[in-house]
Order: sequence, then C-alpha cells, then structure tokens
Amino acid sequence: MPNQNLQEFLLGHLNELRKQGLYNEIDVVKSPNGPIIELEGKKLINLSSNNYLGLATDERLKEAAIEAIREWGVGAGAVRTINGTLSVHIQLEDRIAEFKGTEAAIAYQSGFNCNMAAISAVLDQHDAILSDELNHASIIDGCRLSKARIIRVKHSDMIDLRRKAQEAKESHQFNKIMVITDGVFSMDGDMAKLPEIIEIAEKYDLITYVDDAHGSGVLGAGAGTVKHFGLQDKVDFQIGTLSKAIGVVGGYVAGKKELIDWLKVRSRPFLFSTAISPADAAAATKAIELLMKNKELNERLWANSDYFKKGLKDLGFDIGMSETPITPCVIGDENKTQQFSKRLYEEGVYAKAIVFPTVPKGTGRVRNMPTAAHTQALLDQAIAIYAKVGKELGII
Ligand code: PMP
Repeated sequence: MPNQNLQEFLLGHLNELRKQGLYNEIDVVKSPNGPIIELEGKKLINLSSNNYLGLATDERLKEAAIEAIREWGVGAGAVRTINGTLSVHIQLEDRIAEFKGTEAAIAYQSGFNCNMAAISAVLDQHDAILSDELNHASIIDGCRLSKARIIRVKHSDMIDLRRKAQEAKESHQFNKIMVITDGVFSMDGDMAKLPEIIEIAEKYDLITYVDDAHGSGVLGAGAGTVKHFGLQDKVDFQIGTLSKAIGVVGGYVAGKKELIDWLKVRSRPFLFSTAISPADAAAATKAIELLMKNKELNERLWANSDYFKKGLKDLGFDIGMSETPITPCVIGDENKTQQFSKRLYEEGVYAKAIVFPTVPKGTGRVRNMPTAAHTQALLDQAIAIYAKVGKELGII
C-alpha cells in the first residue's frame, strides 16, 4: 500500500500545478539532438539545445566512445577513490587542465554535481559566499550545502559587490570569503564582469569561483570566459560542464594542484558516486582535443549566432543584454510568451518559452541557441517564421 499522506500531498500539488498551467509536460525527442529534431512526427528547427558546437552527434566523438566501450566496457565499476579511476579518466583530466591552462583538473558526473561537490569541500559555517542573484540553481544548492553565510549580490552590480565584500571582510566574522559567479548567465546570455570581480577579490582577499558552463567552448576562442578576459592566473576555481559545448556529460573543476588534490580527498560526489563511463570520458577527451587543435567550429558558432541575432534585431525583436550565442527574445507577458513559443512550434521552430519563476515576472522570453551545426538556410527559415509569428501576435 502506498503511503496515503504522500499520495494526497502529491495529487494535491500536481493538480494545483496543472490548474495554474505550471506543470511542465516533458517533450520526448525522437531523433538525435541536432539542428533539426523530430517530435510528435514533426521535424522542427531546433533552437533549444546547449549543443553549441554540434559535438553531441559528431562522428569523431561517437567513434571515440565506441572504441572506449570495446576496450573498457560500459561502466567504470566503482567510485574514483576505490578502483573506478581508469586511465581514460586521467587522460580526460589532463586534457581539461591543458584546455583551461591550469595545473590540474578533476572530473565529476555532471556540472550540477560539481557545484555540489566543490563549494562544500572548502567552505563551512565559519565562511561566507558573495553570490550573484542570477547564479545557476546548482551553485545555489552547493552554497546551501556548505552551510556558509550566503550574501546575495545584485546581478552584475559591482557597487553592491564591492560594498558587501568590504562589509564581510571588515566584520571579521568569517574565516574565508568566496565570490561566486556564472561566467555567462544562462537566461540572458550576458557575461560576468570578471575584470572588476577579480579586482574586488584581490582587494578584499576573496576566493574566486567561476562556473563557465555556458562560456567553455564558446568564449576565448573556446577556452572560456576566464581566458576571454586573460585572467587564468587569477581564478581559483574554474568550473565547467562536459554536457554543453563539449557535447557529452560530466563536470569539472580546473585549478591549482593543491586544490584538486584536496577535492580528491574531500568532495563527496568524487568519494561516493561512481565515475563517469569510459565512453563519456573518451568522447569528452576527443572533443577537447578537437577544440584545442581547431578553431573552426568555434568560429562557425559565432558567425551563426551573429547572423541569427542580427536577423531578429532587424525585425524589431528585443534580444535583451545578450553578448553570447544565448539569444533571448524578450516578450514580457507570460501568456503571450507561451503563445509565441507554441505558434513557433506549429510553424516548425522548437524554441522554449521561459517564464516566471525561472526568470522574474514580466520578463518572459523565448530562448534561442543557434549552434555551429545550423546552416544559414535553416537560420533564414527560422528568422522568416519569427517574422510571421511576431507580426501575427503584435510583438513586432
Ligand atoms: N552550471 C550552470 C551555469 C549551468 O547552466 C548548468 C546547466 N544548466 C549547470 C551548471 C549544470 O550542468 P550539467 O548539465 O552538466 O549538470
């Protein structure tokens, strides 16, 4: 018999969500997650994946994964600290360190896991964190897990950060203070103001932590936001994911050798959760090798995203403060945003509506992710559909 209390709780809340139109039905994609995807028997131009460079379906990565399965099997067999560290994991970590320009790196099972692992491995209740209010959910959860005092900073507001850093430092209440930011903010596509953050960090002796999930493979000719600003020696924690531009799955911290050594003995997902599969490690290693050797995919990503953004801007759409391929199309009203996304779908474009509570009320948007794998013809087709639906709904 299922627990009756639990059943009532679940049914009550699910019904409430459905009534408010807030229950997110999961779309099931019937094709690889490339520039065109298939859903409900319909082929759609895909503008919603994080597969920035098209590597998720790249033949060279697929070959690397298949070879790794032949050699190593499908599972790592244990956590990293028992005997789940295979040489494919070490190769991956060496490549990540090279890619990021750091002494060492450690791989985790996901970017989300990585933030849960890294923050709580170095901070505790005697410490403080200055955290941008738009930081990713995994950073928020990682901060909470550490039990450190969380001081929210207004989004990219350097006056607020400076004031709060000074107050925290001069209160003498904390052993350590960390400043944490996304490298690129995922809902608006704006970059962190890293040069100013680093200047403030140096002045108030802050540990620096940059989660570059959306910057790696994208900014700094692929090496990320920290490289884009030339600050590799100034950031203590460079976090990344292997699931977006790299096209596979997994997360990592890159930094000084002592930091990585510490994470290997103290970060709980490394100690208590099985290592990523040999196929994932080998495919991600191959992706990083390709990115280091060849800038063509990165250049194509930027050419496509500049082209697409210009197309939407010329039509009169508001693309907010985007400085990267993440291209929001800000509509405002939540219902209109949902309606817009639905009409795009009917016309052949898959671009998800993002509304409250994921973004503040009244800032609903359809978020677009042009990638290196889109052809110009596909982008032209998408722009024409945006024009048609935008006019139809009175948005442009
Ligand atoms: N950090 C940021 C900033 C992200 O945008 C994401 C992905 N949504 C993650 C971490 C989580 O990465 P992963 O999907 O690899 O768990």
